[in-house]
Amino acid sequence: GGRLVVVGAGLAGFRAVETARREGHAGELVLLGAEERAPYDRPPLSKAALAPGATEPVPFRTAEELEDDLGIDLRLGEEATGLDTAAREVVLGGERLAYDALVVATGARPRAVPGDHLAGVTHLRTADDAAVVRRALDAGARTVVVGAGFIGSEVASAARARGLEVTVVEAADVPLQRSLGPEVGRLVTRLHRDAGVDLRLGSGVTGLTEVAGHVTGLALEDGTELAADLVVLGVGVAPSTGWLEGSGVDLHPRDRGVVCDDTLATNAPGVWAAGDVVHAPHPLLGGDLLRVEHWTSAAEQGAAAARHALDPSSAQPFAPVPYVWSDLFGHRLQLVGTSVADGVVVLDADDGGVAGTTALWHRGGQVVGALVVDRPRVVMKLRRRIADGGPFDEALHAARELLGRAG
Ligand code: FAD
Repeated sequence: GGRLVVVGAGLAGFRAVETARREGHAGELVLLGAEERAPYDRPPLSKAALAPGATEPVPFRTAEELEDDLGIDLRLGEEATGLDTAAREVVLGGERLAYDALVVATGARPRAVPGDHLAGVTHLRTADDAAVVRRALDAGARTVVVGAGFIGSEVASAARARGLEVTVVEAADVPLQRSLGPEVGRLVTRLHRDAGVDLRLGSGVTGLTEVAGHVTGLALEDGTELAADLVVLGVGVAPSTGWLEGSGVDLHPRDRGVVCDDTLATNAPGVWAAGDVVHAPHPLLGGDLLRVEHWTSAAEQGAAAARHALDPSSAQPFAPVPYVWSDLFGHRLQLVGTSVADGVVVLDADDGGVAGTTALWHRGGQVVGALVVDRPRVVMKLRRRIADGGPFDEALHAARELLGRAG
C-alpha cells in the first residue's frame, strides 16, 4: 500500500519504479521527470548516437508500457520545485503531490559555463544535446571539445571516427586526471594523440568568440585562438538538487549532492535517494562519502532505494564496487573501484600497444581500484578482489597471471 513517488525519470528513477512494481508493490507509483521523454539510456549519447545516421534513443520502456504494463502514473515534462518533508509533499510550482515514501533520483546536470547559450555550443547530457552534436558533425563542423573527461574524450573519438579534425582543450596536464590521476591519464593522452586528436593540455579557455549569436571560436590562456563551428563542453556536472534547498534534506557542502547513509536513506523520514545525486559512505574510502556518476551505480542504487523505501526494515548497507566503462578510439577502458589511493602500479602491454594495459591502485596494503584496457574478463576478476579488500601484492600477481605476463 501507500504512494511511492520517484522524482527524476532517468536511469535510477526508472529502475526504482520498475523494481517496486516487479517486487510486488501494489500501491500507487508516481514517476516525475523534467524531460519530455520516457527514461532512456545516456551512455550511447556520446558513442553510437554521434555516428552518421544514428537515430533517436530508444527508451528503456515506452510511456505506454510504463503506464499500462507497470501501472505507473508517469508525469513527464514536470519539474519538482520544492519538498515539504514535514507534510510529506513534493512541490510542483503551485501544486503539491503527497507521498508515503520518496526516492530522489534527479541526477546531475552540466555545470554552467559562460557562452554556453550560443548556437553551436552545447553540453552533452540529453538526447537533444546529442542531436545537436550529431547534426554538426554531419555538416563537417570544425569541432573543439572543452574538457578531456570521459564524455569529452568520447566526443573526440566520434569525430575522429568520421575523419573530422577535432581539438580537445584540457586545463589539467593529462586527460581524465580527476578520475584516473596523472600516471594513467598519460595513457589516455596517448590514445588521443595516436588517433590524431589535436590535444591541448594545461590550457584553460578564457572566452568564446561569436558572430550574431553563433560561436566562431575560442581563446585559450596562452593566447591561442581556435576557430570552431561546434564547441562541446565536457566540464563536469553538479547534482540537480536546487529543489531540495531549504527542505531540511541534508545536502553536501561542496556540491549540494544528497547525503545518505549506507542504506541510501537521507536524514528526512521516508526520503531515499539514488544515482548521480547521491553521496553515500563507502568502505573503499574507509567509510568516507562517495558520489559516483556512473551507469551501474545509478541502476543498482535505483533498485535498492525503491526496496528500502517500501520496506525500511529490510534496508541493508549497500555499497557495490563502482564500475565504469568508456569506449575511446577503438578501445574499451574499464575502471573498477577507486583511484583515490596511496599509489598506483601500471602494467604496460607486452607488445608496446595499448590493449592489455592495466593499472592497479592500492591503499593501506589493499587493492582498491583497477583500470584495464580491452580485457573484460580480467576486470571482473579484479572487481571481486577489490570487493573483498584483498591484499595488493596478490592482486598484482593475479593481474600479471591473467594477462599472461612474466612477473
Ligand atoms: P540522470 O540520468 O541525470 O537522470 C535524472 C533525471 O531527472 C533527468 O532526466 C532530469 O531531467 C530529471 N530531473 C532533474 N531535476 C528534476 C526535477 N527537479 N524534477 C523532475 N525531474 C528532474 N556511465 C557509465 O558508467 N559509462 C558510460 O560510458 C557513460 N557514458 C555517459 C555518456 C553521457 C553522454 C552521459 C551524459 C553520461 C554517461 N554515463 C556513463 C553516466 C550515466 O549515464 C549516469 O551515471 C546516469 O545517467 C545517472 O542516472 P541518474 O538517473 O542518476 O541521473
